[in-house]
Amino acid sequence: MLILPKFKAPSKGNSPIDRIGVLTSGGDAPGMNAAIRAVVRTAVANQVEVVGIKRGFRGLLENDIELMSPASVANVLQRGGTILKTDRCPEFLEKSARKRALDLLAREQIQGLVVIGGDGSFRGARALERESKHGLQVVGVPGTIDNDIPGTDDTIGFDTATNTALDAIDRIRDTASSHDRTFVIEVMGHATGFIAVQVGLAGGAESIVVPEIKYRPRDLVKAIERGKRRGKTSSIIVVAEGPKVGLAHQVAQDLTRAGHPPRVCILGHIQRGGTPTAHDRVLASAFGATAVHALLAGKTSGMIGVERGVVSFKRFEEIFRGKRALDQNWFQLAEILAT
Ligand code: ADP
Repeated sequence: MLILPKFKAPSKGNSPIDRIGVLTSGGDAPGMNAAIRAVVRTAVANQVEVVGIKRGFRGLLENDIELMSPASVANVLQRGGTILKTDRCPEFLEKSARKRALDLLAREQIQGLVVIGGDGSFRGARALERESKHGLQVVGVPGTIDNDIPGTDDTIGFDTATNTALDAIDRIRDTASSHDRTFVIEVMGHATGFIAVQVGLAGGAESIVVPEIKYRPRDLVKAIERGKRRGKTSSIIVVAEGPKVGLAHQVAQDLTRAGHPPRVCILGHIQRGGTPTAHDRVLASAFGATAVHALLAGKTSGMIGVERGVVSFKRFEEIFRGKRALDQNWFQLAEILAT
């Protein structure tokens, strides 16, 4: 189990915060509801009111908010997506839009804001905090299936998305081996290969193609031919979508040209939805509760994360400076295990 931090909270009634907001922003991820539930129930247990903001930052521009209670987050743990809904809100890049959002937050006497989303959402949150005149405090909770946020080993939704992709790969393998076929399966992951490596390892993929490692068609063809020489009659190649969806088709063309025409399957958005795994529900619960504790302890402008099993708080500055690197050892291990 995760190790939860103990933030020094001010004695009861001494925190300047008695009303907070919570929103989900950017791409949805399974487990976001568990995080919302944890925020609401932890806050209420600490005599703090919680306002739910709908459709990410857009709700702040359109005054789409509602007071939440422990009952309003009943029966949501097992639901994918986000009950608060989410959106991208390009207007938020403009200071004038953020000023309107801050006016609403000040009018509603919301002193703390929990933003559940990716690092884009955290940039929006930090901008709000910097420009706030009423002392708004913000804390981010990493929610993205891509697991690509620096400063945390895990994000809400990654485990569920990888298990969904793995289930699909297991099914495709049945067909691949029955028909002696090669399949190229494209998984999500934005510009990173975390999902691809995780499901490639778990699903015993013969090859994994990720944006972090230069794709060489010749190496891929060699790997397939090596497998065939050893008697392998079917292969699964997992391809990360990369910055631009459709790399799977390119890989398929290369294999066809080399005389190994594959079938292509792009898993797409089925990886986004669905019932969150126990892992994601617990992670989200820990993150949501810790975000509230952080706000009450005066911690602000940072993200809750997990590092080596310990739930942590990291300043946004550190997160924005870094880039989450794929551990190449995992990639090499996958290659060895596929031989
Ligand atoms: P994610 O949070 O998943 O990384 P995005 O990058 O799309 O997703 O960001 C979500 C939203 O956060 C954007 O639509 C925008 O409203 C806000 N946002 C992103 N970057 C900034 C920024 N630099 N300044 C202000 N708001 C931002």
